[in-house]
Amino acid sequence: MAQYGFYFDNTRCTGCRTCVMACKDYKDLPQNLTFRKVYDYEGGTWAAQDNGSYTTDCFSYHVSVACNHCQVPACLAACPQSAISKDAETGIVSIDEELCTGEASCVDACPYGAPLLDEERRKAIKCNLCAERIAEGASPVCVEACPLRALNFGEVEELRATYGTDAAIAPLPSADETYPSLVIKPCPAAKQPGDTAGKVANEKEILEVAAFVR
Ligand code: SF4
Ligand code: SF4
Repeated sequence: MAQYGFYFDNTRCTGCRTCVMACKDYKDLPQNLTFRKVYDYEGGTWAAQDNGSYTTDCFSYHVSVACNHCQVPACLAACPQSAISKDAETGIVSIDEELCTGEASCVDACPYGAPLLDEERRKAIKCNLCAERIAEGASPVCVEACPLRALNFGEVEELRATYGTDAAIAPLPSADETYPSLVIKPCPAAKQPGDTAGKVANEKEILEVAAFVR
């Protein structure tokens, strides 16, 4: 079985949100729902030195993330309707809207906040890695849209062979939770999962999706 996943180059991302908006447009999502999110992660301080100068350890970087089509999908395990499946050929995790009853156990279970509840239709929805585009030989729309070429996709073992095996930086959770099909090239300032030196500066943007405020 192939396992497809995303690559994210943290050294290139400028936090422009083109990936977020391209996906939102392509998937025709409701106003307050986005399958892809961009975290602005910031921290550090300035310190006065005895000689009158200042030093700083301030840092700031962006993390673009969507569903990671995990090896051990917490969403799938949590769904009481068996509405979530992992494709045997591609490893893509998707939600069958016919089976979904909208009680959103997957929304609560996913450590990446990937599934969202479409309140109007009472259906959980999420990124399917643009499976329909991949089947036609095209890239996921976020990958195609990124002006910095910070996103890529492919068979995760090939991505790892090309880019390395990092799969988690703050504020993302440890990769040990769900074994995401994700490869990250960390920027020099990137912190480890669980880091307490920084904070998500755009928490309101991240949290004010319907999934978290229902
Ligand atoms: S489009 Fe590219 S550079 Fe812009 S936020 Fe998304 S991943 Fe980062
Ligand atoms: S990122 Fe979340 S929704 Fe996607 S497969 Fe993993 S646990 Fe499921």
